[in-house]
Amino acid sequence: MAERAWRKTQFLEALADPGLRRRARLALDAGPLCEHCLGRLFGQVDSGLANPDRGRLVRQALDAASSEDPCSVCHNLLDTMDRWAVRAEMALRAVESDTFAVGSHTDPRIAEREQALWDTVGNGTAEPYKQEFNRLLGTRLALATGREVDLAHPDVLVLADHRTGHIRLQIEPLYLRGRYRKLVRGMPQCRWKEWPTSIQEIIGDPVLREARGEDHRLHGCGREDTDVRCLGRRPFILEVRRPQQRHLDWSALVAEINASGKVELDTLTPCRRPDVAHLKGLRPDKTYRAIADLASDVPEVTLAGLAELVGVIRQRTPLRVLKRRSNRLRRRRVLNLTWRQLTPRRLELTIRAQAGTYIKELVSGDAGRTHPCVTDVLGVPATCAELDVMDVHVENDQEPNPNDPGGAPPG
Ligand SMILES: [Zn+2]
Repeated sequence: MAERAWRKTQFLEALADPGLRRRARLALDAGPLCEHCLGRLFGQVDSGLANPDRGRLVRQALDAASSEDPCSVCHNLLDTMDRWAVRAEMALRAVESDTFAVGSHTDPRIAEREQALWDTVGNGTAEPYKQEFNRLLGTRLALATGREVDLAHPDVLVLADHRTGHIRLQIEPLYLRGRYRKLVRGMPQCRWKEWPTSIQEIIGDPVLREARGEDHRLHGCGREDTDVRCLGRRPFILEVRRPQQRHLDWSALVAEINASGKVELDTLTPCRRPDVAHLKGLRPDKTYRAIADLASDVPEVTLAGLAELVGVIRQRTPLRVLKRRSNRLRRRRVLNLTWRQLTPRRLELTIRAQAGTYIKELVSGDAGRTHPCVTDVLGVPATCAELDVMDVHVENDQEPNPNDPGGAPPG
């Protein structure tokens, strides 16, 4: 209290300055102003006082009576914070969040009148009315709800439309990281109408139900073909749009998902939007197990030729994906390859390869489009009968990319 009184004294002393007095006079003569809009013009004089305090002190210093007329700048918008706060609190309470921020769709007419006042009084560096509005509403909502203001990464952005008087919530998606194993063949990673279900739906549907969100997306660290199992753990991030709930029983959800028998998770852990870009940027090696069927019997001694496949291979876009992807030549590194003969016509290959290697084509050769390949080195047509991802070699999928701040702060 003593400090506030001291600040007021300091402010009044500063107003003895002839330049400041002249500006205060110009402001009062420009038209009726509420204490917010008057005080905001003098924000730089003392940063420790609230705008209405400054406004009252300016009037006191100039012996001016407060005005009964509506404010010529904000039309008393800033005196209606109680009503805005009640509406915003109701909206915010319907959605679970730890943090929030307030943003405004401004009324351009208020901004124009404010600019005209700055032109007259000569303070273009004063705080814009929107900023004061956002701060006042944010402070009230923080007090009323016990939630924290987070301007950089709010769970919910409370948007006040000054033209219509409406409050709208922009709800940040819920991001959950985990690693999945895909235990069955014949299932795509993402929702696809030609298939009855997908990894995305098996993981996303129960979470969506509990979070009471609108939709989900699955961001995988790469993906396996529909007919390929993933027995090693592949990192992913599930994104749930417009969640009403953010604190869910993660272990119960993991148990429910694992009961599908098709997909198995280790954990579900909340993460943030920048983690998606980081995950997408990872290009980990993978280890595969491929079952190769040979068109004729191959003596075991010939199999030593498979060692030639370790190193750089050249792959043209496979015929089976040419419809979706452009035809180009890529070089990929096969880092390791071991084999086991199961029958004279069947091999089990364990292959560690760089991200983006087409393994089925490494076996078959894809009519000459992949070179070298199993077909080449054995001199017998080979096809990939079964394929499993055995390991996704991610060193660190937890570290967000420091170059991506994760979106701009709200306006
Ligand atoms: Zn005003």
